[in-house]
Amino acid sequence: MTHGAMTDGAMANGARIATLRRVRPPDGPADLLVTGASVRTLDSAGTVASALTVTAGRIAAVGTSAALRRLVGPRTRVLELRGETVLPGFHDAHVHPPMGGRYLLLCDLHDLPWDRDAYLHRIREYAEAHPADAWIVGGGWGMPAFPGGTPSRGDLDSVVSDRPAWFENRDGHGGWANTAALALAGVTAATPDPPDGRIEREPDGRPQGTLHEGATRLVERLLPPFSQARWEEALRRAQAYLHGFGITAITDAWVTPEHLSAYLALVGRGELTLRTSLSLWWDRAGGLDQLAWFGEARRSASSGRLRATTVKLMLDGVLENGTGALLEPYLDGAGRATDNRGITFIAADRLAGEIAPGLDSAGFDLHMHAIGDRAVRAGLDAVAAVQARNGPADRRPHIAHIQLVHPTDVPRFAELGVGANMQPLWAAWEAQMRDLTVPFLGPERSAWQYPFGSLARSGARLVGGSDWSVSTPNVLHEVEVAVNRVVPESRGVEPPFLPDERIDLTPALRAFTSGGAWVHRLDEVTGALEPGMLADLVVLDRDLFDRGAGEIGDARVVLTLVEGDAVHVDPAFPC
Ligand SMILES: [Zn+2]
Repeated sequence: MTHGAMTDGAMANGARIATLRRVRPPDGPADLLVTGASVRTLDSAGTVASALTVTAGRIAAVGTSAALRRLVGPRTRVLELRGETVLPGFHDAHVHPPMGGRYLLLCDLHDLPWDRDAYLHRIREYAEAHPADAWIVGGGWGMPAFPGGTPSRGDLDSVVSDRPAWFENRDGHGGWANTAALALAGVTAATPDPPDGRIEREPDGRPQGTLHEGATRLVERLLPPFSQARWEEALRRAQAYLHGFGITAITDAWVTPEHLSAYLALVGRGELTLRTSLSLWWDRAGGLDQLAWFGEARRSASSGRLRATTVKLMLDGVLENGTGALLEPYLDGAGRATDNRGITFIAADRLAGEIAPGLDSAGFDLHMHAIGDRAVRAGLDAVAAVQARNGPADRRPHIAHIQLVHPTDVPRFAELGVGANMQPLWAAWEAQMRDLTVPFLGPERSAWQYPFGSLARSGARLVGGSDWSVSTPNVLHEVEVAVNRVVPESRGVEPPFLPDERIDLTPALRAFTSGGAWVHRLDEVTGALEPGMLADLVVLDRDLFDRGAGEIGDARVVLTLVEGDAVHVDPAFPC
């Protein structure tokens, strides 16, 4: 490990973090030779090679297997492949490791099919395996698995009746309680709905088991506390899980002080192998006085692989419940306009006039959540205002989710140098799109969704992210959907969603490599496989570009290296 290489360029107390530089590794025999591969370097020329060498944690040479054999010495490890693809390590530029890792420690339903019986089976097994736990807690269920999208307490009672149980919806907007949990929380037919939520009820008024939005706090306040040690364990689990998908660098898109402490503990013990850019959470109830803790976080997160140089601004909600900010009103589902244009959590004039320029002046990059076309426009306007107010600088602003982009705003991403941070898995036909989105947008606006192809054609920089634990962090699934606009579960069943917005395999992979590296200010040293760059790379189980080898998302990552060290090895992979 060459942790020192990561601190060389860091200016912990400077206004803006320096980009890490390439370093030519020493001449002589390599530490590692990978040969017989299809090495997709994803460099600007699109170089394809058959071999590469690694020395002192850096890529030393890229070329043919025959030519690089001369770099083999007595201590060189040689990895002989048979045409499998080697790629730069993946970047996930919008992911939530504390939340995802927490679910991995609890009873996790995220990886199951959206199926009631599958959920109940897993919960029963987990409860039997954890007889001493006072609560059974987990999450990751999907609404389509239940009638009306609302799982019942009776279902949960059938597998956990002896103690309280609580399961969070994978979308974070609700939870599922058993009868014991509702009783402990004192939720009865007489309990009124809280102002910011709703208690799903049986015909006689008794709680049905599903709690929506703010009503979840009725139960959540009673859950066993999650200690600092548990957060650290959650991060370790999340890191291993992400490495398993070939991910070597991330943006944590929602960082609170307790998460930061857990990351710092991992750095202190030399356990953080994932290059982590923390997006510090902008509390919309506060103002620029938050720069005090942001600056403190940036100073503390300046060693090892950890950085905290961006701030996350949540501009709006989501379309499915009418909280995404729209330029024109939502429809009522029958084609008539309503008076609802959604919610802006941060007023556009305050964002552009004060918050964005203030954060930029303090040297922070902007990471904005924008779903609706009004929020996307507000984000672009904010970057324009920063440029006008603060002058030219090396900025890395990005807007995540970009579900609905007004066509006149598409070219502004390239013009303003704003990264288009896409979550490709959402750009597909499924129940949520068909039932909860399209009818409320109407046909014209529905065709503006997830315009990745249009953005690419306009010259925008595409950046990839999963939003795990909302969606899987399997990069190859995300890439398949970016290319096909059909999720793997719906191959051959659903048509492509807005097929003009498909992108090719190479640009899709670049979004998850060089695109993320740009956001992470690691583009000098990661995101491609070039001599002098860090040896962060992945080996797949097949040639991804051989279309006869099966669907993109069926490929698996068998080996993940960070600075030449294995951080994930598939048990079946001879290494
Ligand atoms: Zn997110």
